[in-house]
Amino acid sequence: MLDYLGLEADLGEEERLIRDTARDFVDSEVRGDIGQHWLDGTFPTDLIPKMGELGFYAPNLAGYGSPNVSETAYGLLMQELEAADSGLRSMASVQGALVMYPIHAFGSEDQKERWLPDLGAGDAVGCFGLTEPEHGSNPSAMETHAVKEGDEYVLNGSKTWITNSPIADVAVVWAKDRSADGNPVRGFLVETDTDGVTTNKIDEKLSLRASITGEIALQNAHVPEDAVLPGVEGMKGPLSCLTQARYGIAWGAVGAARDCFETARQYATDREQFGGPIGRFQLQQQKLAEMATQITTAQLLAYRLADLKERGDLRPQHVSMAKRNNVRMAREQAPVAREMLGGNGIVADHSPMRHMANMETVYTYEGTHDIHTLILGEDLTGIPAYE
Ligand SMILES: Cc1cc2nc3c(=O)[nH]c(=O)nc-3n(C[C@H](O)[C@H](O)[C@H](O)COP(=O)(O)OP(=O)(O)OC[C@H]3O[C@@H](n4cnc5c(N)ncnc54)[C@H](O)[C@@H]3O)c2cc1C
Repeated sequence: MLDYLGLEADLGEEERLIRDTARDFVDSEVRGDIGQHWLDGTFPTDLIPKMGELGFYAPNLAGYGSPNVSETAYGLLMQELEAADSGLRSMASVQGALVMYPIHAFGSEDQKERWLPDLGAGDAVGCFGLTEPEHGSNPSAMETHAVKEGDEYVLNGSKTWITNSPIADVAVVWAKDRSADGNPVRGFLVETDTDGVTTNKIDEKLSLRASITGEIALQNAHVPEDAVLPGVEGMKGPLSCLTQARYGIAWGAVGAARDCFETARQYATDREQFGGPIGRFQLQQQKLAEMATQITTAQLLAYRLADLKERGDLRPQHVSMAKRNNVRMAREQAPVAREMLGGNGIVADHSPMRHMANMETVYTYEGTHDIHTLILGEDLTGIPAYE
């Protein structure tokens, strides 16, 4: 496996164990079928509790069944899962960083005890509802709202592009609280079998096909007042979750690119043309050299991010830089690997074209590449350029 600068030599025992557990899981349980799932537009739901058993959901949190592993270990886990498919990593990212994290950080004791053990075990599935049909890059303009009526909130609005919503038991829905001064954004834990909640699936995606994506429609959905996350108000709530998930994506994209590279390197050794392996041609070696260099540079960024996160010095803008760079890198290198496989590169038996299509989603969700550019632009100049 590409680790050109020997970064893995410095890993601790627990980090190696998590990396190896995830790698073995991917090899034995995922690789065989993931191409077919991608073609069928299905997610291997039987893996949800298995990933729970292995501790793949938010193992970097402390308590309520989570072991509080290092941020490097968590990153390595995301890298290995995305080496299989971005859909698999998305499942773990949403469950861990976008659902368990806000409950852990902002939830009441009752909410934590009700949801964290079940979500961690994969006995319950969560989803994160922020994006709306008319408000994607600018979620602060959201229209979904809650109004207090007695000891309940009544929710109305619609969310779209929500990973896992059709199979979720609980949705973290971000809505404006019209009963409070200034209509602050608040997070609501909405059980998806609540009257007035529907979660239709979005079909015919051409990217992230091995992941279930849907809508959340809320029509006079009544939830108890204790469904609100008490510990946060305003956009800080959803944005802090996104920072956690984007951290995992910065690592995950390295895994997808590494899988493309390893597939191409193997193919270059095996495939013979003009009397020998295509890997002896300078043109093919140039592609491998560039891919390896780009992946290694992205790995360095991911490892540095982990160190900063561990010591509490990680800023959201650091994460923006790494998400932006590493996903762009994977998006640019996947087609190079695809090209090296010639005609075989376009069939589902080989991963690069699947990763290439998946990267269109990863480049777009969790803040588009453009939005991360603007976040960095503002950080570097002090001048916001969003509007
Ligand atoms: C498969 C998939 C899964 C997803 N899962 C989730 C999920 O689980 N939960 C969730 O809440 N959301 C999810 N999303 C939604 C995702 O986060 C949004 O698609 C993303 O934020 C972009 O929003 P948009 O699609 O509305 O694009 P828009 O915001 O309409 O952007 C369209 C284009 O305009 C550009 N643009 C926008 N504003 C500016 C600006 N100020 N300056 C320059 N360019 C700009 C964008 O970069 C983009 O290229 C998912 C999306 C996909 C595709």
